[in-house]
Amino acid sequence: MLKGVSASQGYAIGRILKLDQQTVDTTKLIVKSVENEITYLHEAIEKTVGQLEHLKKLSLKKFDNETSSIFDAHIAIAKDPEVIMQVEQKIKKETCNVTYALKSVVLSIVDMFNEIDDEYLKQRASDLLEVSDRIIKNHLNIKMINLETIDQEVILAAHEISASEAAMVNPKYVLGFISEVGGKNSHSSIIARLLGIPALVGVPDLMQTVHNHDQVILDAIDGKLIRSYSKETLLQYQHKIVAFKLEKQKLDSLIDVDPYTTDHKKIDLLANIGSFNDVKYAKKQNAYGVGLFRTELIFLDRYELPSEDEQYHHYKRVLEAFDPYPVTIRTLDIGGDKPLPYLKHTIEYNPALGDRGIRFSLSHVDIFKTQIRALLKASNHGNLKVMFPMISTKEEFIKLKKIVLGIQKEFDDQKIAYKHIELGVMIEVPSAAIISDQLASIVDFFSIGTNDLIQYTFAADRLNTQLEYLNQPFHPSILRLIHMVTSAGKKHGIKTSVCGEMASDPIAACLLVGLGVDELSMTSSSIVAVKDKIIKHSYKELVSFSEKLLDSSSEKDISIKLEEFIK
Ligand code: PEP
Ligand code: MG
Repeated sequence: MLKGVSASQGYAIGRILKLDQQTVDTTKLIVKSVENEITYLHEAIEKTVGQLEHLKKLSLKKFDNETSSIFDAHIAIAKDPEVIMQVEQKIKKETCNVTYALKSVVLSIVDMFNEIDDEYLKQRASDLLEVSDRIIKNHLNIKMINLETIDQEVILAAHEISASEAAMVNPKYVLGFISEVGGKNSHSSIIARLLGIPALVGVPDLMQTVHNHDQVILDAIDGKLIRSYSKETLLQYQHKIVAFKLEKQKLDSLIDVDPYTTDHKKIDLLANIGSFNDVKYAKKQNAYGVGLFRTELIFLDRYELPSEDEQYHHYKRVLEAFDPYPVTIRTLDIGGDKPLPYLKHTIEYNPALGDRGIRFSLSHVDIFKTQIRALLKASNHGNLKVMFPMISTKEEFIKLKKIVLGIQKEFDDQKIAYKHIELGVMIEVPSAAIISDQLASIVDFFSIGTNDLIQYTFAADRLNTQLEYLNQPFHPSILRLIHMVTSAGKKHGIKTSVCGEMASDPIAACLLVGLGVDELSMTSSSIVAVKDKIIKHSYKELVSFSEKLLDSSSEKDISIKLEEFIK
């Protein structure tokens, strides 16, 4: 049995088809004509762009605009003037061959992206590698596999499944994806989820272990690939496949149901998004707006700061798409373990405790002001709320609000239109939770970031797998902090939402509602599962049950009680 990470839930039973990666020779050669190499580069790019246009058309037919926009992004990468310029310079400077020049330029950019622990940048790095490989193969006239022609049931196994490969498959025949690398947010994982086929990523030594035609069971719920099994196991999985399909149909039928508890209290369920690309799926799941738009992606995936105008267009698109529903945009949460590649950050011994979130905004006021200007201009296009990450004192909020008011005054003087926006704070640092009664009198709303609140309460780095045992969302300390915040919010008449991962867990979501949280913002794919639990319980019962848990003495005790109560 091989283990991996489930990137698209489900089960499949079928035969393996291996996608073997062809290695291409990119060793350095000294060339006679630099001009010829540059011509080859442009010819290969042109051919690549043509192929990507074809894939875009294909995915437009099969999927939607958002999915096909993956290929727009790939086309933009193929044509990226900055990369082309660097490759041309390298060819000229080193009188070297195009394959070597392109590969080494791309690898240096990929290294820069990989230095930052960010899922999105890892995806951008893999896009860049995928597109440059295609350019190199086109230059060398190497044929690429055509997955459109598969007409027998198979489970694809590969070192990495690319976006173009994933977009070509027919889910009637391709029953699942398995790969050695890739993450939950890889394009192939996103496409697998759209196609409704199970996918397992991060399976070590997969390609050495499996063979073509091996009959396997893919369990992308428990994250395993079963290679030898008994008749009983096979029968068990055949039943699981039927039950899984029925459960999925049941949850999908809840998309249009409003999230009311049995005693008629509406709990708004919103989406967490990272870019406009996530909007379509969030709307499909009937999200009641956006509870967290993480704007750092707009800043990370580039070579320089985004301008006010670029930012304005990003925010405007999302606001228009959701209008009149609320869109809560978080100001830049950068620094610490997520440095901007193009800015000089000071080296810190404890980056998670360092110059990040609004601390970075206050030490780089110009960057903050540009973002606020873009946000205020975008406010004309929908229902905008703005929130600040990593607040730990009242004074920080007062300073930030003063800057916002200053810009509004400038806009008034210059007759630039904007709408009134609510300003809220994220509660992610214990100090903010503890003074939430004081904060509540000066802010418009609270949004609890449980991912960081847990990390800072336990003083346990959320990226350190060795400390995973301290990731205890149900620990009494966390429940008490959350209750403290919701109570302060209620006393001052402001809403509290939760936008950390806890809100995506159906059982935890019911607990949060019971602790007084007004809104939940989560990964869009969790909305129906959370709704399924909320609509089965009475608000009154959830409150009295959850408040009793505040006196429990351990996370284990609380988990057991929750499992018993939340059905
Ligand atoms: C959180 O900390 O819970 C949160 C939502 O912010 P992020 O995960 O982006 O740090
Ligand atoms: Mg956070």
